[in-house]
Amino acid sequence: MKCLQCENDARAICRFCGRAVCESHIQTKEFHAGYGKSKKSHALDRGSETAVTIADAVWCGKCNIEPQKTY
Ligand SMILES: [Zn+2]
Ligand SMILES: [Zn+2]
Repeated sequence: MKCLQCENDARAICRFCGRAVCESHIQTKEFHAGYGKSKKSHALDRGSETAVTIADAVWCGKCNIEPQKTY
């Protein structure tokens, strides 16, 4: 597979849109996966660890990432 932005062979896949990028066009962006509740449902709720953050996830630099509010 070729890079989205040039003719080089791709080295990685954008975590957000799935397009391929070569080593010189790889960018990184914070990526969140999983979900949780934004508020405690009761006082004894100690939270869950179902959501993760990847600080340097591969990003193609081209796709638009729109944060969505979820519960
Ligand atoms: Zn490239
Ligand atoms: Zn992308």
